Amino acid sequence: MTDIDALSSRLSALSSGRASAPRLREGVLTLVLDVSGLGEAERDSMVEALTAEARQGEGVETVRIAQTAERHDLAIIAVASGKGGVGKSTVAANLAIALSRLGTRVGLVDADIYGPSQPRLLASEGHRPKAEDKRLIPVLGAGGLPMLSMGHLVEPGRAVAWRGPMAGNALGQLIDARWGDAQVLIVDMPPGTGDVQLSMVQKHKPAGVVIVSTPQDLALIDATRAVNLFEQAGVPMIGLIENMAGYACPHCGEMSDPFGTGGAEAAAKAMDMPFLARIPLSIALRVASDAGEPPAATGGPEAEPFLALAARVKEWIDAR
Ligand code: ADP
Repeated sequence: MTDIDALSSRLSALSSGRASAPRLREGVLTLVLDVSGLGEAERDSMVEALTAEARQGEGVETVRIAQTAERHDLAIIAVASGKGGVGKSTVAANLAIALSRLGTRVGLVDADIYGPSQPRLLASEGHRPKAEDKRLIPVLGAGGLPMLSMGHLVEPGRAVAWRGPMAGNALGQLIDARWGDAQVLIVDMPPGTGDVQLSMVQKHKPAGVVIVSTPQDLALIDATRAVNLFEQAGVPMIGLIENMAGYACPHCGEMSDPFGTGGAEAAAKAMDMPFLARIPLSIALRVASDAGEPPAATGGPEAEPFLALAARVKEWIDAR
């Protein structure tokens, strides 16, 4: 066995098979380390141990370890809507929180480049993400949720003038950030069905999509458009969510239906797609959201529909 072969098997054993065979040229030893699924501390100590071992090799002056992670570890779930104002961002934030309460390791990307609202919804306004090896490190939002938003990178309103490609690049940076051992990345899509949406879907290949709609007809027509965009791009449909469905009077508890109800469920049936959840219109939900306290994180009644929704989504993810 040559020296480099012997070193190779020691490095392989040290890394439980994660290290590639090393190459040694002019004193520089290089290897690729697969860090998929490792936590940050575990990864750092493995790199340290491999570097120390590799330095013992004959003729080795410098050690370079390139880290890679299998992208398919991270399932992107897009949260989309045909138009703005239907509660897509609210649903995305609370779905992410509820999924993490169910034990899934979740990150969240606010892809709503022109109107980012996640920093407010998840109480991380003013946080500035750092970068490492040209990749962004997520900031922590409410409940310790790792997240990134355009709102963390530029002053409010600055991205409004950006054209498609620039917006697409910015979005790519958010999605390709260091999500560590996250299993699921919830992506709060920009509303509507324009170029940014299409290129995001083609480039980052979500594992699945949920569509948020209100019971109103108009929103449903727009929702159908969003469904078509994802269908044409071959993204599996997880299902439809009806938001602002029915209103419980805060005084007497009686339910009323200011926007009608059941429209989304009927539309889901007509389009042969699963109906995932009905989330009532609730003043408490809006007030808590505006204050950066996602209702899904609480023990109150507002958390229930989001926990039920997250259970359905988790079931879908686990069955993949
Ligand atoms: P979108 O992302 O679709 O533009 P948002 O999530 O920003 O929509 O929601 C728009 C507004 O509606 C926000 O003020 C939000 O707090 C409120 N909202 C969303 N869902 C509900 C709900 N179920 N009940 C009451 N207010 C809601």
